[in-house]
Amino acid sequence: MSASDDLPPLRDVIRRHELRARKSLGQNFLLDLNLTARIARSAGPFAGVSVLEVGPGPGGLTRALIAQGARVVAVERDERAIAALAEIAERYPGRLEVIAGDALAFDPRQHLTAPARVVANLPYNIATALLVQWLTAEPWPPWYDRLILMFQREVALRITAAPGSKAYGRLSVLAGWRSKARMLFDIAPSAFVPPPKVTSSLVELVPRPEPLACASRTLQRVTEAAFGQRRKMLRQSLKSLGVDPIDLLGKAGIAPTARAEDIPVEGFVALARAFEP
Ligand code: SAM
Repeated sequence: MSASDDLPPLRDVIRRHELRARKSLGQNFLLDLNLTARIARSAGPFAGVSVLEVGPGPGGLTRALIAQGARVVAVERDERAIAALAEIAERYPGRLEVIAGDALAFDPRQHLTAPARVVANLPYNIATALLVQWLTAEPWPPWYDRLILMFQREVALRITAAPGSKAYGRLSVLAGWRSKARMLFDIAPSAFVPPPKVTSSLVELVPRPEPLACASRTLQRVTEAAFGQRRKMLRQSLKSLGVDPIDLLGKAGIAPTARAEDIPVEGFVALARAFEP
């Protein structure tokens, strides 16, 4: 497989930099250039856009993003990948800034200029934690105009689930509160090296400019209690909040016999507001 730029094929990059995938770092690399180009296209156009890429690894997606006009800030924890990425930065001066470090501890605002966007094939072990960080960003509207992220399909289904469905839960409420989330397409395990056990999905999240007012921490406490016992009626599951659940549900205008999976985002926001001190 040859690259669409004049950089060496990714397999050579991996061999030269001894980038054998490590499970502990959630490494499943995309080497199919048609696929990396398709992901980049789904996230574009990039005129004037700064892209944050988490976990560029050997740089397949990074190269596709640059080829389609993005300026990329890439945060990578694996020291072995840093040298490989330096070669891309050298080939495209001013287009790629590589930051060695932990994406969970990274403050993007110091490195990105608006408009900014996140595009990533996320390490699965920290994918949800990163998404929650981005969805609870303050101030709101956030520093990014879109998130284009790859998750395990099961997580993608939870992010985009509607009330009443089996996958609807805490993550769906948080994502639905602050964004419009939708599935873009699935990616088979065979597209990755090494292949993961499950199918992956690309998800797009577009921030809502004016989400219903409430504190994200309170919303998360309420959904944690409600979905902690998702089969139970809310008058039972909300007891763990330490206040009278009937009173709380009354203030929020929700029937005490309702169950968490049937409550839309607006209902949880009303509960969070009623619970706020
Ligand atoms: N973007 C590459 C691709 O599509 O081929 C690699 C994706 S791989 C699923 C996840 C990448 O995230 C790996 O390169 C891994 O080293 C990196 N990573 C894992 N934990 C990280 C962390 N806490 N901060 C930044 N990068 C991390």
